[in-house]
Amino acid sequence: MIKRIFNAISRRLAGIAPAQTRSVDGSETAGTSVKSYSGYQQGIHHRLIDKAALDTVFSLKRAGYEAYLVGGAVRDLMLGIEPKDFDIATNASPDQVKQVFRHRCQLIGRRFRLAHIRYGRLIIEVATFRGDQENGHPARQVDDSGRLLRDNVYGSMDEDVWRRDFTINALYYDPKRDVVIDYVAGREDLYAGQIVLIGDPWVRYREDPVRMIRAVRFAAKLGFKLAPSAEKPIGELGVLLKEVSNARMFDEVLKLFHSGSAILVFEKLRHYDLFKHLFPLTDAILASEKEQFPRQLVIEALQSTDRRIAEDKPVNPAFLFAAMLWEPMMQARHDYLREGLSPQDAFFAAAGDVLHVQCAHTSIPKRFTAQVRDIWNLQFRLHKRFGDRAAVLRAHPRFRAAYDFIGIRLAAGETELEDLFDWWTQYQEKDSLEQVRFANQMIRDIKPVRSKRSNRNFYRKKSSQSTND
Ligand code: ATP
Ligand code: MG
Repeated sequence: MIKRIFNAISRRLAGIAPAQTRSVDGSETAGTSVKSYSGYQQGIHHRLIDKAALDTVFSLKRAGYEAYLVGGAVRDLMLGIEPKDFDIATNASPDQVKQVFRHRCQLIGRRFRLAHIRYGRLIIEVATFRGDQENGHPARQVDDSGRLLRDNVYGSMDEDVWRRDFTINALYYDPKRDVVIDYVAGREDLYAGQIVLIGDPWVRYREDPVRMIRAVRFAAKLGFKLAPSAEKPIGELGVLLKEVSNARMFDEVLKLFHSGSAILVFEKLRHYDLFKHLFPLTDAILASEKEQFPRQLVIEALQSTDRRIAEDKPVNPAFLFAAMLWEPMMQARHDYLREGLSPQDAFFAAAGDVLHVQCAHTSIPKRFTAQVRDIWNLQFRLHKRFGDRAAVLRAHPRFRAAYDFIGIRLAAGETELEDLFDWWTQYQEKDSLEQVRFANQMIRDIKPVRSKRSNRNFYRKKSSQSTND
């Protein structure tokens, strides 16, 4: 009875819409009609919805527009997970949204125009329903390979749903009426734990290759699997990630590895052979893996990232890139040393080369490349800690990250770093007077020691010139 009432309400809200039936392999065909459920019965608790998100929906509704929570927030709420952000879909145009929220609203994005509503430090993203105009509309641009360059054709909810990436990300929730609206059997996939693309996966990946890495991210984060239809094109289409702007790829890399499931993300990216499009130098070096080396360093870094996120501690992108690119940098440095460069020049040239290559794939903002260099450089400098040097190094803004980095190298098997790591651990535990005495007890600086297991011949230098990023 209740279900029928909700169905009736949502049908009235949504109008008659095309929906999908699913074939056995997970591909979709047009067919059945829209479904709706009581949010309460689907386990949606309003206490998990941020007040700002509710306020945004209610403000838009008061102004006479339709507004729904959509995407990851609805998916997570139905799984009983606290959403990390809230996306709202509305039939108000970006300019109309701006009129409702005025100074709190900022319109962003060219490719996909959005409104950001600011509530203190929290930002609620409001997207206008996208329409299903054919390609050729001036506000919707697709290039020759099928890539969606721009999509600012507005429409209604029953058009918008087909633009979304996965069925589990295409559920709309009206918090006022407590109704979940489902055009694509998203609830079934949510409960079956599978990632299914809306529409033809080949077309949808070509439109936006980032969807391949989004599929991996959601599979890792939620413990889901990719439906066979979502898996199949990846081997062939993964290469399209090269076409994605390196700035967007940087953002995606952070979402992947700061998702709290970095280890699983890494394994899955490697499984689908997508990792090489994100970190080509690291991928090449991983191919030469011997006795877990250098893979273990990456694993240790990602484990530490996952741990910090689980403990609600901040994570630094520079640490991630420093770990991913450490071995490529060390290989390049080794080559430069063999060419006769001084250790310092070899380091700077190698760091420049590796960051230059990486930035062509994921443009790392300058402030982070500077930090990556510092973390690496301190790996050498922290050995030289006699007398006053210890205090100077301790005061370096990147000291803590560099110390943690030694910790992960040690955990990854560079056992010769044990004394150095212990020394710095003890140093930090002492008060300032004791620190001076402790540092003065050092009779000599200990030279950096390299792991004997590393294979230094793998890395091919891109150029002999030292470059910045
Ligand atoms: P989370 O925020 O937990 O990472 P999310 O699903 O909310 O996951 P967002 O990037 O916040 O992801 O996007 C919000 C919604 O916008 C998605 O759920 C999806 O419906 C739609 N969306 C985002 N990116 C794409 C894309 N590349 N292609 C199609 N739809 C997308
Ligand atoms: Mg989101």
